[in-house]
Amino acid sequence: MEAHTSLLARVRACRICETHLPDGPRPVLQLHPKARIMVSGQAPGRKVHATGIPFDDASGERLREWMGVSDETFYDEKKVAILPMGFCYPGTGKSGDLPPRPECAPAWREQLLARIPKLELNLVIGKYAHDYHLTSKQKNLTETVRNWQDYWPKVIPLPHPSPRNNIWLKKNPWFKDEVIPALQQRISKLLSE
Ligand code: SF4
Repeated sequence: MEAHTSLLARVRACRICETHLPDGPRPVLQLHPKARIMVSGQAPGRKVHATGIPFDDASGERLREWMGVSDETFYDEKKVAILPMGFCYPGTGKSGDLPPRPECAPAWREQLLARIPKLELNLVIGKYAHDYHLTSKQKNLTETVRNWQDYWPKVIPLPHPSPRNNIWLKKNPWFKDEVIPALQQRISKLLSE
């Protein structure tokens, strides 16, 4: 099998959907075969595109808080893999960032997932990652997250940690009361083993 470093170099040189990307390609991801935790996100926003650092924004701050991990742990590729459904910033539409480019997952995702054989927990964030990673789903995202134990302990469906979801978080206090403590406990255990 091709080494993960060589595969990552090919991903970082990818230009497949270049013509659709307003700011050009800049794949943002993190992966190492030792990682046991993965964050399956949506796509980088404009700020992350500028820095090239995944979740280097308000969403990332909240996500690390949900996970109960420091920046140092989150950005340790041997601990946490970060694979959004689209690796490049797709641009912005009328109601926020556009969806991840549809070319990206078919081109790269399976190959990359095969390079993290020790994976124990996949944090599946937002609709596009839910569509890809969840074998069964409820009628909407809220119900899917509410039934998180159906996927546990290998997978956990999450809403997007974006500040745009503050209203959702307010409306669904069970998420912070029930889901987050279980998530933090499991991550802490995986990191300590
Ligand atoms: S979004 Fe994915 S497929 Fe498109 S250029 Fe970036 S890495 Fe390639």
